[in-house]
Amino acid sequence: MAYKALDIDTVCDYLSGIEEIRAYFGTEAIEASEIGDGNLNFVYLVRSVADPDRALIAKQAVPYLRIAGEGFPLSRERMTYEIRALRTFGQIAPAYVPEIYYSSEEMSLLVMQYLGAHQILRTGLLEGRQYPHFAEHISSYLAETLFHTSSLYLQSEQKRALMDQFNGNTELCKLTEDFVFTFPYMEHETNDAAQIESNPALAARIFADMPFKERVLELKYKFMTQADALLHGDLHTGSIMANAEETYVIDPEFAFVGPFGFDIGALLANLIQNYIHHDIVTGDKTHKAWLLETIRDTLLLFEQKFLALWDQTDSSALMIPGLLDTESRRAYQQRFMLGILHDTVGFAGCKMARRIFGIAGVADIRGIEDQAQRSAAQERVYEIARDFVMAYDSIDSVDEILKRIKG
Ligand code: ADP
Ligand code: MG
Repeated sequence: MAYKALDIDTVCDYLSGIEEIRAYFGTEAIEASEIGDGNLNFVYLVRSVADPDRALIAKQAVPYLRIAGEGFPLSRERMTYEIRALRTFGQIAPAYVPEIYYSSEEMSLLVMQYLGAHQILRTGLLEGRQYPHFAEHISSYLAETLFHTSSLYLQSEQKRALMDQFNGNTELCKLTEDFVFTFPYMEHETNDAAQIESNPALAARIFADMPFKERVLELKYKFMTQADALLHGDLHTGSIMANAEETYVIDPEFAFVGPFGFDIGALLANLIQNYIHHDIVTGDKTHKAWLLETIRDTLLLFEQKFLALWDQTDSSALMIPGLLDTESRRAYQQRFMLGILHDTVGFAGCKMARRIFGIAGVADIRGIEDQAQRSAAQERVYEIARDFVMAYDSIDSVDEILKRIKG
C-alpha cells in the first residue's frame, strides 16, 4: 500500500478500511482527536463514539519533523524501526509494551493499545508522584529486553539477523551522535540560544572543557561501535507511561543495536534530573528519597535479573558449554556486569549534559521558570554529568553512584 499522510479528517476512514481495526470496533462509529505532544510524529486517539472506553492510538510518521514543519525533512522510515522494535520488545516483555493491533511499514503507521489510565512518567514525577512498583517493572523490562537481544542469549546468526533489521536506522542514530555527544558541547546553531544567554558563564565553561569532551568522545565511540543489544534508544521519562500498578515503554523509534548501558543510562539521567528539579524547586524530601531509592533498586534489580537470565541460559553465541569452569564463569560475569555499570554511568553523564544547552531540553530543568533556580539546576546537572563522564570507568558500585548524586 503506497504511503499517504493521514490527518484528522482522513484517519478514521482509513482505519475503518483495515480488517484488524474493524474487528476491534465492530460496527461502532469512531472519531479521532490529535493528542501528540511529541516532537516527531502524529499521534491520534481514535475512539468509539458510543463507547469512549473502546479506544486505540494511531501513530504515523511524516517525512519531516512534526514540531519543525515540512522545511525540516526527516525520513519517515523511523517508524519502520519503531514498529520492529515494539514488536520485538512486545514479544520479550509483553507486560511493559503496548499491544500492537496493526502496523504498516509502507504507511509508517502503528495502531496500538491506548494507555488511557497511564500518565507520561516525566509529568507524574514533576508533580511529585511516586510509583511504588516502577523499579521492579523497569528493571525487568531492561533485563529482559537487553539480555534477550544480546549475544549472551542469541546464537551468532540470530544476533546478526537482528542487527540487520535495525542497521538502517541511520538517521536517528546520527541525531543521537550529534545532539547527545557533539553539538551541545560546542558553539553550534542548533543549541538553545536563550539558555546560553541566560547562563553564559556555564556555556563558556562547557564549550572550553576539553578533558570532558575527550571523555564524551570515548562514549560516543562506544555508542557508534558497541553492538551489545537491541536498545530502545531514547529511554527518557517521556518515553514511559505509568500509573501505580503498571509501567509501559513507548516510542522506540531510535532503536538500534548498541551498548547495554545506553538505555539504562538514559533512564538514570532522567531520574537524576527530576531529583535536581525537586532539590532546587520544591524541596520535596519524600520525593527525593523515593527517587534515590528507585535509582538504587532499579540498578540493583537490573543486575540481579540480568544475571538470573544469564544463569538460565545454557548456550549462546558467546557462552559455549564446556569453555569455562564455574569459578571463571562467575568471575567473567562479575567483570561483565561492572562494564555495563561503567557504561551506564558514562552515558547517563552525556544524556544529562546535553540537556543543558542542546537543542532538546527537558521540562525538569529547562522548564524551571525562575532564572536563578534554572541556572542553579543547570550547574548541578553539569557537576554530576561531568563527574560521571570523567570517572565513569572507575565508579564501581550503585552506592558510589548515589553518593555522587547526593553530592
Ligand atoms: P513522538 O514519537 O512524536 O515523540 P510519542 O510516541 O512520544 O511520539 O507520543 C507522543 C505522545 O502521545 C506521548 O507523550 C503520549 O502523551 C501520547 N501517546 C503515545 N502513545 C500512546 C499510547 N499508546 N497511549 C496513550 N497515549 C499515548
Ligand atoms: Mg516521544
